[in-house]
Amino acid sequence: MRILVVEDEDKVANAIREGLESTGYEVRTARTGEEGYVFARQESFDLLILDLMLPRCSGADVLKRLREIGAQLPVLVLTAKDTVQDRVAGLDLGADDYVVKPFAFPELLARVRALLRRGSADYGSLKMRQDDLEMDLVARRVARSGHPLSLTVKEFEVVEFLLRNKGHVVSREMLAQEVWKVAERATPIDNAIDITINRLRRKLDDPYEKKLLRTVRGMGFILGEGERS
Ligand code: CA
Repeated sequence: MRILVVEDEDKVANAIREGLESTGYEVRTARTGEEGYVFARQESFDLLILDLMLPRCSGADVLKRLREIGAQLPVLVLTAKDTVQDRVAGLDLGADDYVVKPFAFPELLARVRALLRRGSADYGSLKMRQDDLEMDLVARRVARSGHPLSLTVKEFEVVEFLLRNKGHVVSREMLAQEVWKVAERATPIDNAIDITINRLRRKLDDPYEKKLLRTVRGMGFILGEGERS
């Protein structure tokens, strides 16, 4: 397990590093927000421990920028003051948990362990599922009841988008923007979407008793149970 620690205070950074290393984690430290951002982009980590109070580029800036580029690693924020604002700001920006300074190392370690456990289940896995429908994003495979489905690239992308939003209605606007990458919905795109959805339905649902992909009249499509069923 590799952990990136971004903390400008040497004493704190060293204490965290030594504690984590003696527990068996591999630790990389960065002393500025900029450096932390670069390390997080260039290398792969299982967890980021991020001080919010950093000179120039604050921890909040680092976190915001990392989430903007789609970094999904769990983030544990260190806040200097026990203020509600700091906590809310950190969690709003996409932090997963926080520890208030000064903290005892066992407290930090407990949070680290909890996040890494969660991380291996939520973030580490690039597999998604709904009922007996499974998608493996790394192998680019989709299967239902264990039977592989042969999908076109667009069909695959539609299933991926539906799975990411499972249980929620996905509109034609969303599909046009997120899958077809067009800003404006237009008749040709709507036709392409409908054709793709119909083909998908034949592969995904027709052979099976339980139908997973439903049309919500006037709104769009939904995969799995959810609102407006
Ligand atoms: Ca600091």
